[in-house]
Amino acid sequence: MKLTFLGTSGGKPTKNRNSSAIALECENERGWYLFDCAEATQHQILKSHLSASKLKAIFITHTHGDHCYGLPGLLTSMMLDGRSEPLAIFAPKELRNMIEAFVDVSLEHLGYEVSWHTLHGGFEVGFEKFRLKALPLIHSIECYAFYIVTYPTIHIDADRLSAEGLPPSPLYSKLKEGIDVEYEGKRFTAKEYISASKPLRLIIAGDNAEPEILGEYLRDLDLLIHEATYTQEVYESLPTKFLHTTAAALAKTAQKWGVKHLIATHISPRFSDPAPILEELRAHYRGECVVAEDFMSFTIRPS
Ligand SMILES: [Zn+2]
Ligand SMILES: [Zn+2]
Repeated sequence: MKLTFLGTSGGKPTKNRNSSAIALECENERGWYLFDCAEATQHQILKSHLSASKLKAIFITHTHGDHCYGLPGLLTSMMLDGRSEPLAIFAPKELRNMIEAFVDVSLEHLGYEVSWHTLHGGFEVGFEKFRLKALPLIHSIECYAFYIVTYPTIHIDADRLSAEGLPPSPLYSKLKEGIDVEYEGKRFTAKEYISASKPLRLIIAGDNAEPEILGEYLRDLDLLIHEATYTQEVYESLPTKFLHTTAAALAKTAQKWGVKHLIATHISPRFSDPAPILEELRAHYRGECVVAEDFMSFTIRPS
Protein backbone atom coordinates (compact mmCIF):
# COMPACT_ATOMS: atom_id res chain seq x y z
CA MET A 1 0.00 0.00 0.00
CA LYS A 2 1.22 3.46 -0.85
CA LEU A 3 0.06 6.60 0.94
CA THR A 4 0.70 10.05 -0.52
CA PHE A 5 0.15 13.13 1.61
CA LEU A 6 -1.56 15.85 -0.43
CA GLY A 7 -2.10 18.19 2.51
CA THR A 8 -0.59 18.16 6.00
CA SER A 9 -1.53 21.49 7.61
CA GLY A 10 -4.07 21.84 10.41
CA GLY A 11 -6.84 24.45 10.24
CA LYS A 12 -5.59 26.45 7.26
CA PRO A 13 -2.93 26.10 4.57
CA THR A 14 0.56 27.61 4.71
CA LYS A 15 3.01 28.35 1.89
CA ASN A 16 4.46 24.85 2.24
CA ARG A 17 1.50 22.81 3.45
CA ASN A 18 -2.01 22.51 2.08
CA SER A 19 -4.80 21.36 4.42
CA SER A 20 -5.79 17.72 4.91
CA ALA A 21 -5.89 15.14 2.11
CA ILE A 22 -4.26 11.72 1.79
CA ALA A 23 -4.23 9.37 -1.22
CA LEU A 24 -4.18 5.59 -0.79
CA GLU A 25 -3.10 3.23 -3.58
CA CYS A 26 -3.05 -0.58 -3.38
CA GLU A 27 -0.63 -2.81 -5.26
CA ASN A 28 -2.06 -4.41 -8.41
CA GLU A 29 -5.22 -2.33 -8.28
CA ARG A 30 -6.25 0.27 -10.82
CA GLY A 31 -7.42 3.49 -9.21
CA TRP A 32 -6.97 5.07 -5.79
CA TYR A 33 -8.83 6.35 -2.73
CA LEU A 34 -8.88 9.85 -1.21
CA PHE A 35 -9.13 10.55 2.53
CA ASP A 36 -10.29 14.12 3.22
CA CYS A 37 -10.39 16.79 0.58
CA ALA A 38 -9.42 20.24 1.81
CA GLU A 39 -9.67 23.31 -0.40
CA ALA A 40 -7.19 23.09 -3.33
CA THR A 41 -6.79 19.33 -3.06
CA GLN A 42 -7.42 19.18 -6.81
CA HIS A 43 -4.38 21.44 -7.32
CA GLN A 44 -2.31 19.06 -5.19
CA ILE A 45 -3.57 16.11 -7.26
CA LEU A 46 -2.47 17.92 -10.44
CA LYS A 47 1.02 18.39 -8.97
CA SER A 48 1.28 14.71 -7.97
CA HIS A 49 1.56 11.42 -9.88
CA LEU A 50 -2.18 10.81 -9.31
CA SER A 51 -5.00 11.26 -11.79
CA ALA A 52 -8.45 12.41 -10.65
CA SER A 53 -10.01 10.30 -13.40
CA LYS A 54 -8.82 7.14 -11.59
CA LEU A 55 -10.24 8.18 -8.20
CA LYS A 56 -12.57 5.43 -6.97
CA ALA A 57 -13.92 6.68 -3.63
CA ILE A 58 -13.63 9.59 -1.20
CA PHE A 59 -13.75 9.34 2.59
CA ILE A 60 -14.35 12.46 4.69
CA THR A 61 -13.47 12.33 8.39
CA HIS A 62 -15.63 15.36 9.35
CA THR A 63 -17.20 18.48 7.92
CA HIS A 64 -14.73 21.12 9.12
CA GLY A 65 -13.61 23.17 6.11
CA ASP A 66 -9.95 22.11 6.29
CA HIS A 67 -11.12 18.54 5.55
CA CYS A 68 -13.85 18.95 2.91
CA TYR A 69 -13.99 22.38 1.23
CA GLY A 70 -12.12 21.00 -1.77
CA LEU A 71 -14.95 18.67 -2.76
CA PRO A 72 -17.14 21.02 -4.87
CA GLY A 73 -14.18 22.02 -7.04
CA LEU A 74 -12.85 18.49 -7.42
CA LEU A 75 -16.27 17.03 -8.27
CA THR A 76 -16.98 19.77 -10.82
CA SER A 77 -13.55 19.43 -12.48
CA MET A 78 -14.17 15.69 -12.87
CA MET A 79 -17.41 16.57 -14.65
CA LEU A 80 -15.52 18.96 -16.99
CA ASP A 81 -13.02 16.16 -17.67
CA GLY A 82 -15.92 14.00 -18.87
CA ARG A 83 -16.02 11.54 -16.03
CA SER A 84 -18.67 8.84 -16.50
CA GLU A 85 -17.67 6.29 -13.83
CA PRO A 86 -19.66 6.45 -10.60
CA LEU A 87 -17.95 7.87 -7.52
CA ALA A 88 -18.60 6.73 -3.95
CA ILE A 89 -18.40 9.25 -1.09
CA PHE A 90 -18.32 8.10 2.54
CA ALA A 91 -18.94 10.95 4.98
CA PRO A 92 -20.95 12.22 7.95
CA LYS A 93 -24.52 12.83 6.83
CA GLU A 94 -24.40 16.67 6.76
CA LEU A 95 -21.80 16.66 4.00
CA ARG A 96 -24.26 15.48 1.38
CA ASN A 97 -26.50 18.53 2.03
CA MET A 98 -23.49 20.84 1.80
CA ILE A 99 -22.24 19.46 -1.51
CA GLU A 100 -25.66 19.13 -3.13
CA ALA A 101 -26.36 22.80 -2.20
CA PHE A 102 -23.11 23.82 -3.94
CA VAL A 103 -23.99 21.86 -7.04
CA ASP A 104 -27.61 23.14 -7.12
CA VAL A 105 -26.68 26.81 -6.62
CA SER A 106 -24.09 26.58 -9.40
CA LEU A 107 -26.72 24.91 -11.64
CA GLU A 108 -24.17 22.20 -12.33
CA HIS A 109 -25.06 18.66 -13.34
CA LEU A 110 -22.18 16.38 -12.53
CA GLY A 111 -23.05 13.96 -15.32
CA TYR A 112 -21.80 10.96 -13.35
CA GLU A 113 -23.36 9.13 -10.45
CA VAL A 114 -22.29 10.00 -6.90
CA SER A 115 -23.30 7.39 -4.34
CA TRP A 116 -23.43 8.75 -0.79
CA HIS A 117 -22.74 6.53 2.22
CA THR A 118 -23.40 7.90 5.70
CA LEU A 119 -20.75 7.09 8.29
CA HIS A 120 -21.64 5.97 11.78
CA GLY A 121 -19.83 4.15 14.57
CA GLY A 122 -19.33 0.56 13.41
CA PHE A 123 -19.88 1.39 9.71
CA GLU A 124 -18.02 -1.19 7.60
CA VAL A 125 -17.44 -1.61 3.88
CA GLY A 126 -15.32 -3.86 1.67
CA PHE A 127 -13.23 -2.92 -1.39
CA GLU A 128 -11.10 -4.84 -3.88
CA LYS A 129 -8.07 -5.15 -1.59
CA PHE A 130 -9.23 -4.15 1.91
CA ARG A 131 -12.05 -3.75 4.39
CA LEU A 132 -12.63 -0.44 6.12
CA LYS A 133 -14.35 0.38 9.40
CA ALA A 134 -15.30 3.84 10.73
CA LEU A 135 -14.27 4.55 14.34
CA PRO A 136 -15.73 7.60 16.14
CA LEU A 137 -13.26 10.16 17.51
CA ILE A 138 -13.44 13.00 20.02
CA HIS A 139 -13.70 16.39 18.32
CA SER A 140 -15.98 19.43 18.34
CA ILE A 141 -18.22 17.79 15.70
CA GLU A 142 -18.88 14.20 14.54
CA CYS A 143 -15.53 12.87 13.33
CA TYR A 144 -14.09 9.47 12.35
CA ALA A 145 -10.94 7.45 11.93
CA PHE A 146 -10.76 4.79 9.22
CA TYR A 147 -9.46 1.36 10.24
CA ILE A 148 -8.20 -0.43 7.13
CA VAL A 149 -7.34 -4.14 6.97
CA THR A 150 -6.07 -5.72 3.76
CA TYR A 151 -7.21 -9.16 2.67
CA PRO A 152 -4.50 -11.78 3.12
CA THR A 153 -2.62 -12.67 -0.07
CA ILE A 154 -2.51 -16.40 -0.84
CA HIS A 155 0.87 -17.73 -2.03
CA ILE A 156 1.32 -21.08 -3.75
CA ASP A 157 4.68 -22.85 -3.82
CA ALA A 158 4.68 -23.50 -7.58
CA ASP A 159 8.34 -24.55 -7.71
CA ARG A 160 7.83 -27.30 -5.16
CA LEU A 161 4.58 -28.48 -6.76
CA SER A 162 6.23 -28.73 -10.18
CA ALA A 163 9.22 -30.56 -8.70
CA GLU A 164 6.88 -33.01 -6.97
CA GLY A 165 4.86 -33.77 -10.13
CA LEU A 166 2.04 -31.20 -10.39
CA PRO A 167 2.73 -28.71 -13.20
CA PRO A 168 0.81 -25.38 -13.32
CA SER A 169 -2.85 -26.07 -14.10
CA PRO A 170 -6.39 -25.10 -12.95
CA LEU A 171 -5.76 -27.47 -10.01
CA TYR A 172 -3.59 -24.67 -8.53
CA SER A 173 -6.78 -22.59 -8.06
CA LYS A 174 -8.35 -25.45 -6.09
CA LEU A 175 -5.28 -25.66 -3.85
CA LYS A 176 -5.45 -21.88 -3.30
CA GLU A 177 -9.03 -22.35 -2.11
CA GLY A 178 -7.73 -24.90 0.42
CA ILE A 179 -8.99 -27.97 -1.48
CA ASP A 180 -6.72 -31.05 -1.72
CA VAL A 181 -6.28 -32.38 -5.28
CA GLU A 182 -5.16 -35.56 -7.06
CA TYR A 183 -3.02 -35.70 -10.19
CA GLU A 184 -1.80 -38.86 -11.95
CA GLY A 185 -2.61 -40.92 -8.87
CA LYS A 186 -0.76 -38.65 -6.43
CA ARG A 187 -2.51 -36.61 -3.74
CA PHE A 188 -1.48 -32.98 -3.03
CA THR A 189 -2.59 -31.50 0.29
CA ALA A 190 -3.43 -27.78 0.10
CA LYS A 191 -1.99 -26.77 3.46
CA GLU A 192 1.43 -28.12 2.48
CA TYR A 193 1.78 -25.83 -0.52
CA ILE A 194 -0.25 -22.77 0.42
CA SER A 195 0.60 -19.89 2.75
CA ALA A 196 -1.15 -16.58 3.44
CA SER A 197 0.55 -13.25 4.11
CA LYS A 198 -0.45 -11.41 7.26
CA PRO A 199 -3.00 -8.67 6.55
CA LEU A 200 -1.81 -5.09 6.82
CA ARG A 201 -3.65 -2.99 9.40
CA LEU A 202 -3.61 0.78 9.40
CA ILE A 203 -5.61 3.72 10.70
CA ILE A 204 -6.10 7.06 9.01
CA ALA A 205 -7.57 9.32 11.69
CA GLY A 206 -9.33 12.66 11.48
CA ASP A 207 -9.11 15.40 14.10
CA ASN A 208 -9.12 13.90 17.56
CA ALA A 209 -8.52 15.07 21.13
CA GLU A 210 -7.74 11.63 22.59
CA PRO A 211 -5.80 9.05 20.56
CA GLU A 212 -6.39 6.58 23.38
CA ILE A 213 -10.03 6.30 22.26
CA LEU A 214 -8.80 4.05 19.40
CA GLY A 215 -7.83 1.52 22.10
CA GLU A 216 -7.51 -2.11 21.01
CA TYR A 217 -7.47 -1.16 17.30
CA LEU A 218 -4.00 0.24 17.96
CA ARG A 219 -2.53 -2.98 19.33
CA ASP A 220 0.47 -3.92 17.13
CA LEU A 221 -0.98 -1.75 14.34
CA ASP A 222 1.24 -1.57 11.25
CA LEU A 223 0.69 2.15 10.63
CA LEU A 224 -1.07 4.99 12.46
CA ILE A 225 -1.65 8.28 10.64
CA HIS A 226 -2.92 10.77 13.22
CA GLU A 227 -2.92 14.47 13.87
CA ALA A 228 -0.31 16.07 16.13
CA THR A 229 -1.45 19.66 15.84
CA TYR A 230 0.70 21.02 18.66
CA THR A 231 3.62 20.28 20.94
CA GLN A 232 2.67 19.94 24.60
CA GLU A 233 4.33 23.27 25.43
CA VAL A 234 2.40 25.17 22.75
CA TYR A 235 -0.87 23.49 23.72
CA GLU A 236 -0.45 24.46 27.37
CA SER A 237 0.18 28.10 26.37
CA LEU A 238 -3.06 28.38 24.35
CA PRO A 239 -5.62 30.71 25.98
CA THR A 240 -8.42 28.58 24.47
CA LYS A 241 -8.02 24.81 24.26
CA PHE A 242 -9.16 23.00 21.12
CA LEU A 243 -10.02 19.33 20.73
CA HIS A 244 -6.73 18.30 19.11
CA THR A 245 -3.81 16.06 20.04
CA THR A 246 -0.25 16.97 21.05
CA ALA A 247 2.79 15.12 19.74
CA ALA A 248 3.50 13.89 23.29
CA ALA A 249 0.00 12.42 23.78
CA LEU A 250 0.08 10.75 20.36
CA ALA A 251 3.55 9.29 20.90
CA LYS A 252 2.72 7.93 24.36
CA THR A 253 -0.40 6.18 23.05
CA ALA A 254 1.46 4.74 20.02
CA GLN A 255 4.22 3.45 22.31
CA LYS A 256 1.77 1.91 24.78
CA TRP A 257 -0.06 -0.12 22.11
CA GLY A 258 3.01 -1.19 20.12
CA VAL A 259 2.17 0.74 16.93
CA LYS A 260 4.88 -0.13 14.37
CA HIS A 261 4.95 3.05 12.24
CA LEU A 262 3.63 6.47 13.18
CA ILE A 263 3.01 9.41 10.85
CA ALA A 264 2.00 12.73 12.40
CA THR A 265 0.07 15.21 10.29
CA HIS A 266 -2.36 18.18 10.59
CA ILE A 267 0.48 20.37 11.87
CA SER A 268 -0.50 23.78 13.25
CA PRO A 269 0.51 26.62 10.85
CA ARG A 270 2.51 28.17 13.72
CA PHE A 271 5.23 25.51 13.15
CA SER A 272 7.15 26.75 10.10
CA ASP A 273 9.68 24.09 11.11
CA PRO A 274 8.13 20.81 12.36
CA ALA A 275 11.32 19.79 14.22
CA PRO A 276 9.81 20.40 17.71
CA ILE A 277 6.89 18.07 16.83
CA LEU A 278 9.28 15.33 15.68
CA GLU A 279 11.51 15.80 18.71
CA GLU A 280 8.53 15.38 21.03
CA LEU A 281 7.33 12.28 19.16
CA ARG A 282 10.77 10.69 19.46
CA ALA A 283 10.97 11.50 23.17
CA HIS A 284 7.97 9.24 23.88
CA TYR A 285 7.86 6.71 21.02
CA ARG A 286 10.57 4.22 20.03
CA GLY A 287 9.09 2.96 16.74
CA GLU A 288 9.56 4.52 13.30
CA CYS A 289 7.96 7.96 13.14
CA VAL A 290 7.89 10.91 10.81
CA VAL A 291 6.11 14.24 10.49
CA ALA A 292 4.32 14.23 7.13
CA GLU A 293 5.20 16.78 4.44
CA ASP A 294 3.09 17.58 1.39
CA PHE A 295 3.76 15.10 -1.46
CA MET A 296 5.58 12.70 0.87
CA SER A 297 4.83 9.07 -0.03
CA PHE A 298 5.05 6.11 2.33
CA THR A 299 4.85 2.49 1.21
CA ILE A 300 3.97 -0.33 3.56
CA ARG A 301 3.97 -4.04 2.70
CA PRO A 302 2.80 -7.16 4.53
CA SER A 303 5.59 -8.83 6.53
ZN1 LIG B 1 -8.69 19.98 11.00
ZN1 LIG C 1 -11.70 19.60 12.78
